[in-house]
Amino acid sequence: MVKLYACGPTVYDYTHLGHLRKYVMDDVLVRVLRHAGFEVKFVRNVTDVGHLASDADTGEDKLEKGAKKYGQSVWDIAQTFEDYFHYSMDLMNAVRPNITARATDSVPYQLDLVKKLEEKGFTYVIPDDGVYFDTSKLADYGKLAKLDLEGLQAGARVEQIEGKKNPTDFALWKFEREGENRAMSWESPWSKRSFPGWHIECSAISMEHLGEQLDIHTGGIDHIPVHHTNEIAQSEAITGKKPFVRFWVHHNFLLIEGQKMSKSLENIYTVDDLLKKDYDPMAFRLLLLGAHYRSEMNFTWKNLEGAQVSWERLQDKVQQFLASKDQDPEPTEAQAATEQQYRQRFFQQLENDLHTPEGLAIMWEMVGDSELTTEQRYNTLLSFDEVLGLGLARIEPTEELEIPREVQRLLDQRQAARAAENWEEADSLRQQINALGYQVIDTDGDQQQVKKL
Ligand code: AMP
Ligand code: ZN
Repeated sequence: MVKLYACGPTVYDYTHLGHLRKYVMDDVLVRVLRHAGFEVKFVRNVTDVGHLASDADTGEDKLEKGAKKYGQSVWDIAQTFEDYFHYSMDLMNAVRPNITARATDSVPYQLDLVKKLEEKGFTYVIPDDGVYFDTSKLADYGKLAKLDLEGLQAGARVEQIEGKKNPTDFALWKFEREGENRAMSWESPWSKRSFPGWHIECSAISMEHLGEQLDIHTGGIDHIPVHHTNEIAQSEAITGKKPFVRFWVHHNFLLIEGQKMSKSLENIYTVDDLLKKDYDPMAFRLLLLGAHYRSEMNFTWKNLEGAQVSWERLQDKVQQFLASKDQDPEPTEAQAATEQQYRQRFFQQLENDLHTPEGLAIMWEMVGDSELTTEQRYNTLLSFDEVLGLGLARIEPTEELEIPREVQRLLDQRQAARAAENWEEADSLRQQINALGYQVIDTDGDQQQVKKL
């Protein structure tokens, strides 16, 4: 049994391709573990309160910011972008977690943890600001990120908050400022109107659903120095230093055309942007699988174009297998052994820290290996896809389209009209074909393809 916790999205704006990289690779991890025979209890949070714009516990709550930007209530913003996240992940064919938990639903549990930390003497209050965790009370604070605490003490890493005892101290609970008028606010022992800090929700939600110790915890590499460092501090302070997490999985970033995603560069794309440009989300998934999760990855439209071609090639292969696999003879012993080797090599790569690029190379080699029967190739491909998650099992054999005689006659006339460059006639014939329930698509080489409408 693997207890796995994934830091979830902050739902104040659209899920973008960078987020999708992180969450698709989490999905691959869960699939690989399950395929290897582990039972995985997969929990992911949804941050709908308390994530401040800066890691230094200053700036606006991101949800409040989103509400202003879109002119909606904070609650509506959270719902809209949580829905958009799930919609995007469904299109990426990701398996949903066993439990998805909203931060706002676990506020009482978070408050309990902060009270416990206070009882144990780990906290102090900065008046009109919040309850802070005193990081000097933990001898091994910063161990995950190997923080240079003395250097931080001497220099000013972040905008300092007045009253903080150590630069690394962080807010567990924040008080609403005069005139702030927050839409989301709760009563606490320290203030009538207050709200949780961001880090505490992950300690609370993971403990609530998975217990005091996690096997695997995932997040982006940006979470190492502050968010995850502080999650460890809180959790281990509460449980008496029992290691909070056994294995950390940190995902590297996705760049767009060599640059960081940013509003000013207008290079933040969503799954709908892919659809608008006629790319299949599975082509994007295939592209993501081509990079190891711990390496930085550079997304370019040219690479996506290449992935789309590969995706179509893979679908064609599946069609070919489907068309002929039932006529195949039983595999010989030698063929069965070859299949076994492919399976071993593929899963060895995936089970070795998710070496997806190597896995894909083995998949392509296997798909093109005529030593194997088509049935073997089809079955092996589907078992690889249990962890790659491209949804290949959903592909059904295409039926030969029977074109009615009337439609065929119009098509022939249209072909002739086009050859004579009589575009008006060709257009009118297209409309007549449409009226009969068929769509005509002009392909390269002046051919016409027909689809049922
Ligand atoms: P956020 O919603 O900002 O909390 O981010 C959700 C997750 O997506 C975090 O684990 C981030 O590290 C990750 N993330 C954000 N931007 C990118 C990116 N460009 N590439 C990869 N992961 C990202
Ligand atoms: Zn988290």
